Parts: sequence; C-alpha cells; structure tokens
Amino acid sequence: MKKKISVLFVLIVLSLSLAACACKHEWVEATCTEPKTCTKCGATEGEALGHEWVEATCETPKTCKICGASEGEALGHKWIEATCTEAKTCSVCGKTSGSPLGHEVKEWKETKKASCTESGQREGVCSRCGETVIEEIEKLAHTESDWKITQKASYDQAGERQKTCTVCGEVLQTESYELEGEEKANAFKNECAGYSYKDIARDPDQYKGNKIKFYGEIIQVCSENKDLCSYRVMLSNYDVIYVTYKRPEGEGRLLENDNVTVYGLCNGLYSYTSVQGAQITIPLVDAKYIDIR
Ligand SMILES: [Zn+2]
Ligand SMILES: [Zn+2]
Ligand SMILES: [Zn+2]
Ligand SMILES: [Zn+2]
Ligand SMILES: [Zn+2]
Repeated sequence: MKKKISVLFVLIVLSLSLAACACKHEWVEATCTEPKTCTKCGATEGEALGHEWVEATCETPKTCKICGASEGEALGHKWIEATCTEAKTCSVCGKTSGSPLGHEVKEWKETKKASCTESGQREGVCSRCGETVIEEIEKLAHTESDWKITQKASYDQAGERQKTCTVCGEVLQTESYELEGEEKANAFKNECAGYSYKDIARDPDQYKGNKIKFYGEIIQVCSENKDLCSYRVMLSNYDVIYVTYKRPEGEGRLLENDNVTVYGLCNGLYSYTSVQGAQITIPLVDAKYIDIR
C-alpha cells in the first residue's frame, strides 16, 4: 500500500514540474486584429497590426485591403443627367448608365435632295441643346424598267435580258430566257435556209444538221403513228425528199396532195425499196414544223 502511494506522488511531482517548465511556443503571425499568438499556451507577443484601409468608393465601402473587413457604406454615384450626346454619367468614377438622349430637331430643312444614286442631307437645330444637326437622307429606290433583251435568244440558245433603272440606268436584274411556243417556231423557221436539192443529194454529210426549208407536195404518206410520221415530198422540179415528222398532239393530219412548207434538219440519206423492187436513195429531212399552204 505504501509503495502505491509513493508512485502516485512521484507522478504528480513530475507533471507539475513539466507545467512550470517554459512552453515550446507555436506562433501564429500577427493579423490586423490579433497580435502574434501561441496556439499552445495563448501567450502573445507585440501588437495587432491594425487594418490597412482603402477609402470608400461609389460602389464599395471603406475596406481593409489585407483582411477584407469593411466599415460604413459605399458612397453611391454622383450622377450627371444624360444630355443629347452623353449618357447619364457619375462625376466621380465616370460610370455611365443608359444611352445619350439624341438631339431633338422639330423642323428639318432639306439641304441636298436624295436620288437613287446619292444620299441627300437635311439640317435642323436641336431644341434641347441648340446644336445644328446635319443628317443623311437615305438613297431613293431605283425605278425598274420592263425587261430589255440584251442578247436575243435563238431556237437552240437561251438569250439574256435585263431590267435597268429608268432614272440612273443601273442594271438591276439580269436573267437568261428561252423562246417558247410560236416564238420558238418562228425563230427556227427564220434560221432555216433554202438549199439546192442537187447539192444535198451529192454531198449529204456536209449538210447534216443544217436547218433547211423547202416547199413541196406530199405524194405519199409512208407511215403515220404517234411517235413519228414519214412522208415523201415532191419538189416543184419533181425531185423527192423523204421527211420524218413528230406531229404535235392536236395538230391536224397531213394528207397526200397537201402542199406544204417543211422546216427541219438535214439528216443525210434515206434508202427504201420501190414497189418495183428497185433500191432508191433520196435525201432525208427530219422536219420540226410543217405548214400546209
Ligand atoms: Zn506557448
Ligand atoms: Zn484588416
Ligand atoms: Zn461613381
Ligand atoms: Zn441636342
Ligand atoms: Zn436608279
């Protein structure tokens, strides 16, 4: 029992002497509001640093630039009202709000007339600030003409046409156009030439694809169907040409003894066997248009 008590005594003496011995401080550096302080024993050294104040501005109160602590209120902007040319502006920090009012002109005087090629100008005095204001007047719209043909279309080739401004002459629209219906037929007919029968019969390849026109009498309807009709047509000098023709829907039939004008393309020669069994070769024309005379 006595031994136990003596051990306890030693322990108490030991711990007491430890507490009395100097603390191995663990310092936290001084802040704005606290001096340098030991985290273990709470001992301090020196003074708190004190705040480093930045003065209040329009939008921010007085603030410590080290710890961020603030004091009081922001000052608020000192607004100067908007004018014709300047937006509402703070006289202290220069911040703006909204947009300028713009001049207010009650009476304009036209100093230059606008046209379709040049803008005009007008002048007036601002009733708010008294300034003379010069303003542009927008160009006028062009005045469109009807279509004018700049390149005539032919039977095979598209032409070109334009609309221009009747005031200034500027080209406003250009497009290609093609002939249709009767116009197309007339163009083809006008492009056809008369050729001598003998020339074609002698040298058919040279004329192949040429646009030809001739008069004659249908002496035989060789075939007649939806896709292609064919005829033998006799010229005034009794020469005969073989004619194929895709008769348009709705057009009347062609009959023997009809006097016709044929417009078409030379297509070389055509051979057939006569009733007597003879091989006959005559010029061939693919007709595009056939008019009865
Ligand atoms: Zn300490
Ligand atoms: Zn501070
Ligand atoms: Zn301000
Ligand atoms: Zn003004
Ligand atoms: Zn114009």
